[in-house]
Amino acid sequence: MPTAPVRRVPGRLLAPDPGWSTTADVVVVGSGIAGLTAALRLRGQVDKILVVTKDVLAAGSTQWAQGGIAAALGPGDSPEEHEVDTLVAGAGACDAKAVRVLVTEGPEAVRELIALGTNFDHDPDGELSLTREGGHHRDRIAHAGGDATGAEIQRALIAAIEQAPEIEVIQHALAVDLLLADDGGVAGLTLHVMGEGQRDGVGAVHCRAVVLASGGLGQVFSQTTNPSVSTGDGMAVALRAGAVLRDLEFVQFHPTVMYLGPDSHGQQPLISEAVRGEGAVLVDSEGNRFMQGVHELADLAPRDVVAKAIMRRMMETGEPHMWLDATHLGAAFWERRFPTILATCRRYGVDPVTDLIPVAPACHYASGGVHTDLWGRSSVPGLYATGEVACSGVHGANRLASNSLLEGLVFSRRIAQVLPGELRPLQPPAPDTRTAGLVPGAVRRELQEAMTSRVGVLRNAGGLAEAAGILDKLAGVTAETVDQQSWETTNLLTISTALADAAALREETRGSHWREDFPERDDERFSGHLDVVMDDGTTTLELR
Ligand SMILES: Cc1cc2nc3c(=O)[nH]c(=O)nc-3n(C[C@H](O)[C@H](O)[C@H](O)COP(=O)(O)OP(=O)(O)OC[C@H]3O[C@@H](n4cnc5c(N)ncnc54)[C@H](O)[C@@H]3O)c2cc1C
Repeated sequence: MPTAPVRRVPGRLLAPDPGWSTTADVVVVGSGIAGLTAALRLRGQVDKILVVTKDVLAAGSTQWAQGGIAAALGPGDSPEEHEVDTLVAGAGACDAKAVRVLVTEGPEAVRELIALGTNFDHDPDGELSLTREGGHHRDRIAHAGGDATGAEIQRALIAAIEQAPEIEVIQHALAVDLLLADDGGVAGLTLHVMGEGQRDGVGAVHCRAVVLASGGLGQVFSQTTNPSVSTGDGMAVALRAGAVLRDLEFVQFHPTVMYLGPDSHGQQPLISEAVRGEGAVLVDSEGNRFMQGVHELADLAPRDVVAKAIMRRMMETGEPHMWLDATHLGAAFWERRFPTILATCRRYGVDPVTDLIPVAPACHYASGGVHTDLWGRSSVPGLYATGEVACSGVHGANRLASNSLLEGLVFSRRIAQVLPGELRPLQPPAPDTRTAGLVPGAVRRELQEAMTSRVGVLRNAGGLAEAAGILDKLAGVTAETVDQQSWETTNLLTISTALADAAALREETRGSHWREDFPERDDERFSGHLDVVMDDGTTTLELR
């Protein structure tokens, strides 16, 4: 069995002594599609629900989603066909039972979202308008506002939460760490609240269960489509509490992210796959359509196939990006179908009605995360995870487009079905004797650059070892102030270290994990999953 070197990364954060405390039955961490769905579905079944979110309610990936949400809703489509497409994209690493749950419960979950007040686009005949994206063999992507699906879903969910006064919400509240009871299960959560009156500063919430819905880890890399809140906090919190993380090496790089120049950093504009779904094609600077012959679906091949083809062409030509040609769509279509992308491109000086759009791959989605069972349970009693923070097994080595909003919906509903019957008694937290460690926000940029250049789309043993060396060096830098930047950067370091180790250990190419030095899929050695656990700051990786 392949083993990774034992690594020490900052373990328990040990927040300063809480200045305030409160109690709840369930704390939901995060207010995207996963968190708000869980809170709304738990309403009426659990007495006191508290939603904590580290920025404003709308500030997560959900509001940025463009393309839509996938479900077998159209005539002629079926959950079985959706299942096949999902399994193919996942490259042998999906949990087949979880995929079945996703595709069979998906249509009803989307109908519920519509009943909640989400306004999806409709065709002139009044039917739900469905489009196609990479890897799908049917039109099954429901969208809203043309290309503003996530913003519409987020709006509807926030409106519903505002109509539910029994659900308490604390904004600008960053979850720091779990408090654990003597039995190793959940006893509560420490929070760092920024400027919310009496609850300012570090506090403790004593509770009976925690639902992590804190989203992804895109900020691990220098260029990402993810917003600034996506710093992998929930994964790091769970790891430090003893939960198993799975499949961290499977990070999806979206093939068509607008290229803004060599110095651009942080969140970058996404050019949705739906633009290719409507007929846009990738070309090199000579105008050659290089996706033809690469895959039967050509420009609509699964994301990893397209990202790799773009990277290959970039390496062959020495150019920093390729081009997306959507000029044939015309001004009227652009304005109706993709108003958000159109406005964004124009803001950066590119008019897609007449110009080619410069595009390159950038980090987009974490397929791995907190390992959960079919009901969202993690390996820590009382800790559940849903949405992008979780690894439910539906994405395997590569997420099928528009399956992630659906995952958050479906598994949050499932958590709400079992959690009320499994509530633990309120327990005092056990004394915490673990080692503290916090790195400063100042090391974030170096960390992101190491991850992008050596643990990005193209990976090899030499680069991964260099990245591990840089991360080890950064782990030795001690933060002098305790603030949001240092909590987040410590979480980024913890997750980056585990991710780089997993990428080094997986000596094969599969789905979104591309090893230049091991270009083939190796089912004999790597058909299993890489699980990461942490014990007092020491992470270990195991192939299961
Ligand atoms: C540009 C873009 C386009 C996308 N397009 C699509 C698409 O078309 N279809 C699709 O299916 N998927 C799409 N995705 C992916 C999808 O949007 C996400 O996977 C999904 O929205 C994740 O939902 P979530 O609720 O798990 O997390 P998020 O929506 O990211 O919400 C996470 C929440 O947790 C909070 N949080 C984070 N850390 C903490 C902490 N320590 N303490 C407290 N709160 C915390 C955040 O502030 C936020 O409220 C897209 C993603 C991006 C970035």
